[in-house]
Amino acid sequence: MIVPSQLSAIAELSAAFSDAHVEITSRSNLQMRAILNKNLNYLRRGLDSAGFLPSSSHDRVRNVVTNPFAGLGFDEILDSRPFVRELDSRITKDPEMAGLPPKFSFAIDSGGSWFSHENDDLALRVITVDNSHLFRLSIGGIFSGFGVTIEKAVDCLLEAAQVCLYISKKFDVPARARKIASMPQAMNHLLSELSHFLVDCPSSNDCKSVAEVPLGVYLTKQAGFVNLVPSVPLGRLTSAQAQCIASIATEWDGDLRLAPWRGIIIGSIPECAIRRVAARLQATGLSLDNRSGYGGVFVCAGTGCDASLADVRNDASLLAHLLSGQAGKPGWTVNISGCEKQCAMRNGATAELVATFSGYDLRIGGRFIASNCSRESAMDAVLASRSEMGSEVSSR
Ligand code: SF4
Repeated sequence: MIVPSQLSAIAELSAAFSDAHVEITSRSNLQMRAILNKNLNYLRRGLDSAGFLPSSSHDRVRNVVTNPFAGLGFDEILDSRPFVRELDSRITKDPEMAGLPPKFSFAIDSGGSWFSHENDDLALRVITVDNSHLFRLSIGGIFSGFGVTIEKAVDCLLEAAQVCLYISKKFDVPARARKIASMPQAMNHLLSELSHFLVDCPSSNDCKSVAEVPLGVYLTKQAGFVNLVPSVPLGRLTSAQAQCIASIATEWDGDLRLAPWRGIIIGSIPECAIRRVAARLQATGLSLDNRSGYGGVFVCAGTGCDASLADVRNDASLLAHLLSGQAGKPGWTVNISGCEKQCAMRNGATAELVATFSGYDLRIGGRFIASNCSRESAMDAVLASRSEMGSEVSSR
C-alpha cells in the first residue's frame, strides 16, 4: 500500500539522487539504483520524511505481503488490510522481532486469487467454513494442517515468529520457517508451542498462486468504480510515470497498490474517468492494453548490476517488441536473468533464460533445453513455448 504523496516523493527522490527510475520488486517493494554514496544521507532523509522508514531497527523485517486487490474487490473473501496494519505496527513495537532474518516474510491472504510467487515463512489464507471465516496456517509454504481463528490471527503470527527465533537458537538453524518445516522435530516443537491458537481446518489445494498477470480495467466492489492496472514495462517506472500515477490517484481519490507482478494498481477510479486516465497514462508510455508485449516478461536489473553477463533488459525489450500487438496469455511468463543468481525469478515461469559468458542457458516448463544458445535461438524457443500454450485470450 502506498499513498500518492509517497509515490510522488519517491519519484522526486529518484530524479534527484538515482537514475530517475523506480523499480517495483516481486515482493511489492520499491527499489532505486545508481545512488552515489555522497547522496545516501539526503536520500535517506527524504525517504524518512515521506514515511518510508518508520523504524530504523525494524525496517528490514517489516515484510508483510497481502493481496494487492485487498479491499478493492477481485474475488476476495475478507479485507486483509486491518490485519496487515496491526501486524506491521506490532512487529515494529516488538524489539525481539528486529532479530528476524531480513528475508523472513509474513503473508495474509484475503482469499480468492493470490498473486505472490514467494513461499512465505508464515502465511494465513482466509477460507470460509460453515458460513464463517477461518485462516489456514502455512509454514514455509506447507499447510500446517491447522487453522487459526480470525480474532487470534495476528497474535498467532507474532508468537510463531518468536518461536522460529527460539528454534533457530535451540537447533542451530536459520530462523526461516521453510527450514523449520523440513525438520520434523523443529516443526513439532513449533506446532506444539502454537497449540493454543490452532483449530481444526479442512485441507485444500486451492491456494496456488495465479500465474496470470492482471492488466487493464477490473471491477471494484463499489458500483461505478474500477481498478486500473497499467502495464509497467519490465517492472520499472520512470520518475515522470510515477508522478503521473500519483497525480491521477490524487485527482480521483484513487487507492494505490504495489503488486508482486512488479506492477501497480490504481484502485477505486470512477468509471467515467477511464478514458481520461488512460490517455494520461498513455502520454507517459504506460498502457492499459494487454497487447503491449510486456505482459508476463520479467527481467532482473541487468547492466544495472555488476554481475550481469548480458544486457538482459535490452533483450527483454526486444522480446516484448516481438510480442507487441498480441493479446496476453494467462499463465505464460518468462524470466530473463543476467546471471545464475536469478534475482527476478518467479517460481513457475514457463521459460527461463539465464545469461552465460557466451549466450543463454534455457529452460522451458522446468526442463533444461540448451546451454549457451544465442539470443536469437533463445527468443525463438521462448516464442514457440508461448504459442504452444493454446489460443490467445483477451483481457477481462
Ligand atoms: S540475477 Fe545476477 S545479474 Fe541479475 S540482478 Fe541478480 S545478481 Fe545481478
